Amino acid sequence: MALPEASTIWLDGALVPWQEARVHVLTHGLHYGTGVLEGTRVFATEDGPAVFRLPEHLRRLDRSARMIRMELPYDIADLTKATVDLVRANGHRECYLRHFAFLGYGTMGIDMRSSPVEVSIASWEWHGQLPPADGGITLKTSSWRRNDPNAVPPAAKATGPYLNSVLARREANDAGYDEALLLGADGTVSECTGENVFAVRDGVLRTPPSSAGALEGITQDTVCTLARDLGVPVRVESLLRSDLYAADELFVCGTAAGIVPVRALDDRALPAAPGPVTTRLREAYRAAVTGADPRYRHWLTPVA
Ligand code: PMP
Repeated sequence: MALPEASTIWLDGALVPWQEARVHVLTHGLHYGTGVLEGTRVFATEDGPAVFRLPEHLRRLDRSARMIRMELPYDIADLTKATVDLVRANGHRECYLRHFAFLGYGTMGIDMRSSPVEVSIASWEWHGQLPPADGGITLKTSSWRRNDPNAVPPAAKATGPYLNSVLARREANDAGYDEALLLGADGTVSECTGENVFAVRDGVLRTPPSSAGALEGITQDTVCTLARDLGVPVRVESLLRSDLYAADELFVCGTAAGIVPVRALDDRALPAAPGPVTTRLREAYRAAVTGADPRYRHWLTPVA
């Protein structure tokens, strides 16, 4: 499906026409996966468009960059202003944002030290990656393991490691499932290709920690906060495959996907999709991202 193009992209400090935001074929990041990225959403609120948890996304971008030894030439304040300028310039009510920093054209080879760091921010109208949430999605445990933390750090949201997600998603889709569930190097449950995973059993919500190779998801953190505020106990702890098979409810969550119930894992149907806890969390999430719940307005960066 073609991207719904917006009019401009922020590239290295300037707004340029969408079609002119190009790179050279010898860009270091294209060959060696030396890039870091963020996916962030802008939601319509009664005060106009607002970016959801922008500081957290930009701080994670900066952490990811430092983990792969890349120094961002812009600080968080610069990137915040650039983000707001871009969303305004493109006139979005709601959109997806892709912040991207990568090693550009300079030298070729594994040594990264003399390649320049380039930064872009793109925005477009977009409504999620997974099939519609109603009725839930199907998951299959992947034959691929999540990246071993001692091979490449899964905590860095870096481009190279996404080949792991791409392979797992393709395998699951080819087998007729919507999404893949990956186990970490230690064999415990890690996450999906672009979402964290949660299991509900006996009213308790559980999700794997970053030590299982899962990204520290901002939606995962949001869900934990919303759940605690709803009085639902939350545990961040190692989970076995069988913990998911025995769950009353399963869901996955991420910025692009939102909160999406799982209907079946490895052909084992869940008792409910969405179950009651998932439904309450989806409502609370919707109220948080749209500014309808005043308790979470500090998570919104207004654009108007
Ligand atoms: N895990 C992976 C591998 C992801 O790519 C994403 C999407 N960024 C997530 C989890 C969810 O993270 P977030 O809620 O911050 O979007």
